[in-house]
Amino acid sequence: MEDTVEIKTEAGHNWDLRSDTMTKPTAGMLSAMVNAPLGDSVFGEDPTVNKLERRAAELCGKDAALFCVSSTMCNQLAIRCHLLNPPQSLICHLRSHVYEYESGGASMHSQAMMIPVTPANSVNLTAADVQKHLILDNFMGIKAPTGLIALENTFHGTIMPLEDMEDIAALAREHEIPVHIDGSRLWNASVATGISLAEYSRNADSVNLCLSKGMGCPVGAVLVGSTKFINKARHMCKAFGGGWHQAGILAAAGLFAIDHIWPTMKESHALTRRLADELVAMGFDLIAPADTNMILLAEHKQNEDGGSSASEKLHVQLTDALKAKGVIVGAVYQGCLRLVLHHQIDAQCVNIVIATAKRIMHS
Ligand SMILES: *Cc1c(COP(=O)(O)O)cnc(C)c1O
Repeated sequence: MEDTVEIKTEAGHNWDLRSDTMTKPTAGMLSAMVNAPLGDSVFGEDPTVNKLERRAAELCGKDAALFCVSSTMCNQLAIRCHLLNPPQSLICHLRSHVYEYESGGASMHSQAMMIPVTPANSVNLTAADVQKHLILDNFMGIKAPTGLIALENTFHGTIMPLEDMEDIAALAREHEIPVHIDGSRLWNASVATGISLAEYSRNADSVNLCLSKGMGCPVGAVLVGSTKFINKARHMCKAFGGGWHQAGILAAAGLFAIDHIWPTMKESHALTRRLADELVAMGFDLIAPADTNMILLAEHKQNEDGGSSASEKLHVQLTDALKAKGVIVGAVYQGCLRLVLHHQIDAQCVNIVIATAKRIMHS
């Protein structure tokens, strides 16, 4: 954090916990961008883009990569390039990004029928969940065969266990169905578990890594896979108008993030852990384990006797009180208040949240 510039949002707030997209490039990152060697990446001649793509492919143990504008674009390209024989379906978690937050893109771009699955354990998809929803045949033409299984890790900040990914990958291989990992925050999962990106990626044909979430870049994501798959994705990307010329200026931010921001992620996770533990000790309930950089606060608090009471105003109170202290929260997600940390959220901010929450809980 040696080169962290002071973060002030336009509204004059010091810290923004709504999302880990709320980062600003550091002085070091900006300098890397300014000094990046550039060329025309549509011609395959931008050395910085090429370097980032090689680096991402290597980290994931795959042959090739494509630097894209966003994780949504990476996911949509992956779905389009895996589902080459419509009508086909894809299996995903009911609350996955590809299902909930990509504008219905899979239906629009890929003619995909999405099969959103509620996991039996209510947390993450398992092979048993996937097995139950596989469509292996068109059954006299009335079904849309499964053409893709889309996983997500981390999943709203919670780590999907490697064993479940391995079991799903084995099932998929048995039926020759490709697997895509929306690994927008796979960086976080890897830091938290010590499992390498490559080890996670072994369970998938394609992986998407976001650079503008906790990695702190202003723009960008990388899609990795086989050379054949990435060639196809590059073609589709260009067809969607996603060919960008001297994109090395942005790729440089990605390379900087891998070397300098990613190693600091464990500090964000430790701060998140401390904040989550304090909030739980005060009587807040989490709706999912705060494994990495996100805290999802339920809309009720524990009573002294261990029961819980509805406290709908709690979120509003906390949001307003924090705002007065220069901390923005307030992304209410599935009825819970979401606090997201990243490398520019420091201990001072966490201390303010703890003190403010304590005051509200005891008032
Ligand atoms: C944010 C996010 C995306 C989309 O990222 P953009 O870069 O905003 O398009 C995709 N998947 C997951 C899991 C995300 O959290």
